Amino acid sequence: MAVLPIRITGDPVLHSPALPVTEFDDDLRQLVADMFDTMELAPGVGLAATQVGVPLRVFVYNWIDDDDRLWRGVAINPTLLITPTPTGEPDEEDESEGCLSIPGERFPLRRSERAVLTALDLSGAPYEVDARGWLARIFQHEYDHLDGILYADRLDHACAVDVAKAIKKAKWGVPGKSWLPGVDDLDA
Ligand code: ZN
Repeated sequence: MAVLPIRITGDPVLHSPALPVTEFDDDLRQLVADMFDTMELAPGVGLAATQVGVPLRVFVYNWIDDDDRLWRGVAINPTLLITPTPTGEPDEEDESEGCLSIPGERFPLRRSERAVLTALDLSGAPYEVDARGWLARIFQHEYDHLDGILYADRLDHACAVDVAKAIKKAKWGVPGKSWLPGVDDLDA
């Protein structure tokens, strides 16, 4: 088991588009195993490779829905088709999300209700998940990471001001900051 440090907002790897995976080798298998370990200990429901400093188009997810169904997997070189984002104000109770790269903060954000994920698994085989609700939100959040977008970049003005203040107060927003799940007293 290897838990990796999670990069904090401000690190350039989080704000740059990641590259497609071309080699399905032992290095990739090790990276994905370590990402699952890191996500579980954090704990989080999703983790992108960019968050552990690897600029590849890979994310992992682990989510149990209201019907107790486990959605767990790795998405390599994913594409995502989403329905239009609902208009109006997001609900603070039901639509707040967090990010392991902005630990401890949560802000409300509108997301599409449905997202169809197409991706490769670790063997390079394609698969598809037609996601609704919170799983669709997880996919949108993680997919954004691969394009160098954090959810903080999508917040409306008032929340964007609040998150900028929180980042400044924590002295984040600069390269080289990270935290280690299981060691540092932080959680998202
Ligand atoms: Zn995130």
